[in-house]
Formats: sequence, C-alpha cells, structure tokens
Amino acid sequence: MPVLSVVLPAYNEEAMLKKTADTLKQVLSGEQIDYELIFVDDGSKDATWKKIEETAQADVRVHGVHFSRNFGKEAAVFAGLASASGECVAVMDCDLQHPPETLVEMFRLWEQGYEVVEGVKQSRGKESALHRASAGMFYKLMSKATKIDMSRASDFKLMDRKAVDTLLEMPERNAFFRAMSSWIGFKSTTIEFDVQEREAGESKWSTKSLIKYAITNIVGYSSAPMQIVTGAGVVVFLLGVILGIQTLVRYFSGHAVEGFTTVILLILIIGSIIMISLGIIGYYISRIYEEVKGRPRYIISKKV
Ligand code: UDP
Ligand code: MG
Repeated sequence: MPVLSVVLPAYNEEAMLKKTADTLKQVLSGEQIDYELIFVDDGSKDATWKKIEETAQADVRVHGVHFSRNFGKEAAVFAGLASASGECVAVMDCDLQHPPETLVEMFRLWEQGYEVVEGVKQSRGKESALHRASAGMFYKLMSKATKIDMSRASDFKLMDRKAVDTLLEMPERNAFFRAMSSWIGFKSTTIEFDVQEREAGESKWSTKSLIKYAITNIVGYSSAPMQIVTGAGVVVFLLGVILGIQTLVRYFSGHAVEGFTTVILLILIIGSIIMISLGIIGYYISRIYEEVKGRPRYIISKKV
C-alpha cells in the first residue's frame, strides 16, 4: 500500500493529463515518496479516459476511475477518496494550477503529525475580471453561510486516513468538500500557495455554474434563507398593522374612497414575498427529497 494517494478529478483534461501525471511522478519519486495517482474522469467528452488508460497501463502506480456521466467535481473528489488506499490522501486539480512543490510540503507537514493540511490561495492567478468578481461574491456568501472563512479556500488539501474515512462515512449526498474538510476538525494547518496559470485546456467554471454551486452549497450549509422568509413575514405584518390602522381611521372619518393605490401595492408586495418564500422553502424541500432518495453520489462505469 502506498503512503500517499493523490486524487485528481479530471473533466475534459486531455490536454493536461499526460503532463500532470509526468510532473507529479517526477516530483514525487524525486522526493522518494511512495505514491499512487488516482485520476477520476468525471464523464469527459474528450480523450481524457483514453489518456488515463494509457498512463495506467504504463505505470502500476496510476489508477483511473471513469464516471458514467458528468457528476461534478465534488462527486469526483469523493470517488477518488473512496478509491484511495494511501495512509494519507491529497486532492489536487488536474491542470497543474496547484503546484506539485506545495504537495510535497503538505506531505512533510503530514509526516510531522498534521492530519488535515489545507491549501490556501495566496494569489488567484490569472482570471477574467467577471470571473474574479463572481468568485469573490461566491466566497463572501459562502463564508457567511458556513461561518468558515472561505475567501482563500481551495480544494487543494492533504488528509490523513482518519480524516478521509470520517468524510467517507458522512451520508449526505450534496457534499461540499472544501467546507467539510474543515468542519470535521482534526489537527489541521494551512499552507499558502500561488495559483499557477493553466497551461492548456480551459476553466470549466462559467459564471452560471458558479452561481448554481453557490446556491447549492449555501442551502447545504445554512438555513438562513428560510429565516429571511420569516423576517420578511414579520416586516410585512408590521406594515400591515400600520396600514390597517390608517385604513380604519380613514373609514371612520369618512374618507374611505381613496386607497386603491395602497391595495394594489399591498397585493403586489405580499404576493411577491409569498412567492419568493414558497420558492425558498420549495428549494429546501427538493434538497430534502434528494437526500431522502439516497441516490449514489456518482456511478462508476470503468476502472483501471
Ligand atoms: N472538474 C471536474 N468536473 C467538473 C469540472 C471540473 O472534475 O465538472 C475538474 C477539472 O478537471 C480540474 C478541476 O476540477 O481538475 C478544477 O477545474 P478548473 O481548472 O476548470 O477550475 P478552475 O481552476 O478554473 O477553478
Ligand atoms: Mg483550474
């Protein structure tokens, strides 16, 4: 059994796969670390799986897991953790944006007895202004919702077997790896790294997918949106009382004809708040439904 397992989720990474594997092999064997690489092909539409198969055939230390379709990076990370056999498991991107040198430093920290080593972004590397802004928003919301500072968090982590097993035992379907790895506790530390530039291929995160990701994870970690509904209800009730008194006063003083504007406004405001509230509650119910169904997080179609 290897000491270090490296989990690499890969979605349409044909351009980077070989290079990533070679770089990691070189760095890790140079440091005399006993390792295995686990590539999780998240249902890629390009030649990623072929590349993984080739790499695995050439080297017994390389393993591959292939999903039946695209299940998302979170699922890929968990599938990798489940297949890892090492005494510690690292998760890193398949595009070399997480520097392998930092991986070695993480491993050394683990050797010193740390059980969770979290990679923290010192700089975010090159991104478009829009992407930077939406990512900024995303992390602000996430930090508020999870009460863990997420602004510099990344998925680049190294965990001891104990921590990995704890994560794998968690039954929830909609896991958010970044937050869960700190939520579980253990003796942890952080290490800073500079996000490297992607050499080939392109980022898989569109602004739309980031927003979707944010909503899923906020709902997964916080019930604050539902409390906002209650808050809105209270505010509208207070407004209702004030307007009610005003209306009654007008009625008894004989000025009741006017007021259609108020009625229309009230209907619009209350109607929209009710609909938004129902939407939020509906969203939570759909999430509960998803968890209750207990579908698997991912489906593996092939392994090498
Ligand atoms: N990834 C994945 N499934 C997806 C999207 C991305 O496994 O649905 C992988 C991708 O192959 C890469 C990592 O997640 O190894 C990070 O993706 P990317 O580089 O596109 O994100 P960015 O670095 O731009 O945040
Ligand atoms: Mg990347």
